[in-house]
Amino acid sequence: MKSNSNTHQKKVVKKEIDRRQFIKKACLYTAGAVGTIGSLASGQQPVVSGSSVPGKMMYRRFGRTGLNISVVVAGEMDFLPMYERAYELGVNYWHKVGNFEHPGPEFFNGKDRDSFHCDMVIDTLDKEGAIAQFEWGLKQSGLEMIDFMKVHSLYRDPKDIKKYSGIFKAFDSLKKKGKTRFLSVAQHYKTAEILAACIESGLFDAIQPNFNVFSPPEMFDLIGLAEKQDVGVICKKVLAGGDRNWQRNSERRRRVEQEFQKSQLTLGQALLKWALDIPGVTAVVPLITNFKHLEEDIAVGFDTKTLSRFEAQSNRSTLEDFAENVSSDYCRSCGRCESVCPQNIAVADIFRYELYFSGYGNTKRARRLYREIPVDHNALHCDSCRDCEAACPHQLPIVSKLHQAHSILA
Ligand code: SF4
Ligand code: SF4
Repeated sequence: MKSNSNTHQKKVVKKEIDRRQFIKKACLYTAGAVGTIGSLASGQQPVVSGSSVPGKMMYRRFGRTGLNISVVVAGEMDFLPMYERAYELGVNYWHKVGNFEHPGPEFFNGKDRDSFHCDMVIDTLDKEGAIAQFEWGLKQSGLEMIDFMKVHSLYRDPKDIKKYSGIFKAFDSLKKKGKTRFLSVAQHYKTAEILAACIESGLFDAIQPNFNVFSPPEMFDLIGLAEKQDVGVICKKVLAGGDRNWQRNSERRRRVEQEFQKSQLTLGQALLKWALDIPGVTAVVPLITNFKHLEEDIAVGFDTKTLSRFEAQSNRSTLEDFAENVSSDYCRSCGRCESVCPQNIAVADIFRYELYFSGYGNTKRARRLYREIPVDHNALHCDSCRDCEAACPHQLPIVSKLHQAHSILA
C-alpha cells in the first residue's frame, strides 16, 4: 500500500511540475513571445479519446458523431493570434465559424483538415434561408466543409421541432453535397424542455445547452438524457455571466477563491471543471475575450490531477454554496415569466444581453442584439404589472432588472 502511495505521490508531483511549466510558458507567451505562434501547430498532439497526458489537452468522444474533441472548445474570439494560440494548446473544435470575422481562411489555410472540427450557427428554420446562410458562412470561412450545422436558439416550444421541417431539408441537402456532416442545436430559452425534445426526436447529433452551477435539476436530467442517447454535449455559459458577475459578494468570493487556490484554480477554472465533471458533458465553451482568460480557461483541459482533486465533494459543495449565495438575480432562461407576461416582453433574452454587456464586457454585441428585439417586446414596454415576478421560481426582481437593462442596452 505504502509503495503504491509513494509512486502515486511521485506521479502527482511530476504532474504538478508539468502544470507549473505550462503556466510559466503561457505567461511568457502572454508577455509577447508571439514568435512561437504557428510553429507548434503542425506538431499538435494526436487526438485520443479520453487522453489524459499531463500538460496536454484532454479529448473526449463527442457522442455518436464518434469525433474526439478537446474538452475546452473556443470561438467568438476577437483576434486571429488568439485562435493560433488556442490551436497550439490543443483546442480542436471551433464554435460559430463563418458567423464572425475569425476564424477565416487566414487561420485555416495550411492546417490539416482532419486536425480540427467546427460548427456554424444558423438563424432561420426556413430551408432556403438556412442554405443561403450556410453557403455564405462557408465562403467566409474558406473551408469546403463545416462539420456541424447548428440551429441557434430558434425554438419557442417543443412542438416547433416537428412544425418547421425546412431546416432538416436544408441540412439533408447540404449534407448530400458534402458541405456538412452533423446537425446540432443550441438553445437559450426553455432549454431543458426544448433540448430534451430535440434529443428525443433523433434528428440532432449534438446539443449546446447553457449549463452552470445555477442550473436547475431538470438541466441535470437533460445531460443524463443526452448521455443515455449518446448525444454529445458542449456546455455554454458555464462561467455564469463572467468574472464581473461574480463580484457582487466580494467577501464571500475572496474566501471561495482562497479555497480554490489550494488546488491552484481560479474561480473561473473551478466553474469550468465543475461542468466537465458532470457525466455526459463532453466539453465547455467559455467566452474568451483576452489572452489571460485564454490561457487560464484552456489550462482547464490539461492536468487530470487537478480535475480529479476537484471531483472531491467538498470543493463541489463550496462552489454550489457560493452560487446559492450570489444567485438571487441570475436568470436561468426558464421562460416561466414570459408565459404569463401580457406584453410578451422578451425577459430572458434581455437579461442574457445584459450579461453579455456587464458580465462579459461584450458591449457592442449586447446592444446590437437588444436592438434586434422587436420594439414592442423590449423592456420599455413593460407595464410593471409584476405577474412575471410572481411566476419566477428564483424570485428575481424582474421589473427593476428590466429598467436597468434598458438603460444600458438601449
Ligand atoms: S411586469 Fe412587465 S415583464 Fe413582468 S409580466 Fe408585467 S409587463 Fe411583463
Ligand atoms: S426571470 Fe425568472 S422566470 Fe424569467 S426566465 Fe429568468 S429565471 Fe425564468
